[in-house]
Amino acid sequence: MVGVVITGASGRMGRMLIDTVRASSKAKLVGVTERYGHDWVGQDLGEALGGTTWDVPVVSDPIDVVKDAQAIIDFTTPAATMALSELAAQARAVHVIGTTGLDDNHLEKIATAARHAPIIRAGNMSLGVNLLVQLTRKVAEALDEDFDIEIVEAHHRHKVDAPSGTALMLGEAAADGRGVSLSDVSDRGRDGITGARRTGDIGFTAIRGGDVVGEHDVIFAADGERVVLRHLATDRGIFARGALKAALWGQTQGPGEYDMMDVLGL
Ligand code: NAP
Repeated sequence: MVGVVITGASGRMGRMLIDTVRASSKAKLVGVTERYGHDWVGQDLGEALGGTTWDVPVVSDPIDVVKDAQAIIDFTTPAATMALSELAAQARAVHVIGTTGLDDNHLEKIATAARHAPIIRAGNMSLGVNLLVQLTRKVAEALDEDFDIEIVEAHHRHKVDAPSGTALMLGEAAADGRGVSLSDVSDRGRDGITGARRTGDIGFTAIRGGDVVGEHDVIFAADGERVVLRHLATDRGIFARGALKAALWGQTQGPGEYDMMDVLGL
């Protein structure tokens, strides 16, 4: 049994991960974390959720539980993820990072931590989206700049970062397929008199509202025709199952940075 720590236990993904790990015959929940000052901290997780004792502590300092874990599954905030990656590396535990909104500075720190333990990071842990990324790369390779590429994503009203980590993964794949760097062609946040669209740009649009789990369209629009690749997520369970799969897969890997393409063998 692989001992797993889940961070941000009371969050949308945290709760889904708790159910997924507890239902697994290959993993055991050894502890969870929550923000300092959260009501659940200091309680047993089963009791915090209104039931019986599970013998799973809720702590605010991850050190208290990481020592008993072989994997940490982390869907929180960039700041919390940064603190954890160093700790996970010291404990030689697999760190599965689902947190999005990481900047270059964060990614540098993750690369340093990955010298000591496996880190698996993906803006989207679902099989369908990782397939969509591959398809996007292939279609971008096949269609020239007569086809304008636009990425449209929709998420629930609570999401704090935009474009989504998945939209950026899709943008990177499209740019890669075209043999260009996304930072040179990315067009984010049009407003007012923007001028005509620049040939070769990859545009991003973010919709926020309601309880949308996650929707992504990659549009290739030319004169007279359009190709649209679409993924619709209707259940957060797909991300939690993907993250647990990554945590188990990581047990047999050496130190380094991996993504879901590696886990899924795509
Ligand atoms: P959420 O509901 O806001 O959950 C985040 C949780 O982390 C909250 O319970 C928060 O507590 C807690 N937290 C914040 N700082 C912490 C700390 N220092 N230590 C421990 N816990 C801490 O958000 P979500 O919808 O679950 O999403 C979380 C992240 O995962 C986001 O970056 C999202 O974009 C990403 N995500 C990724 C995927 C993927 O497949 N890669 C899929 C879905 C979501 P408080 O609320 O008390 O601050």
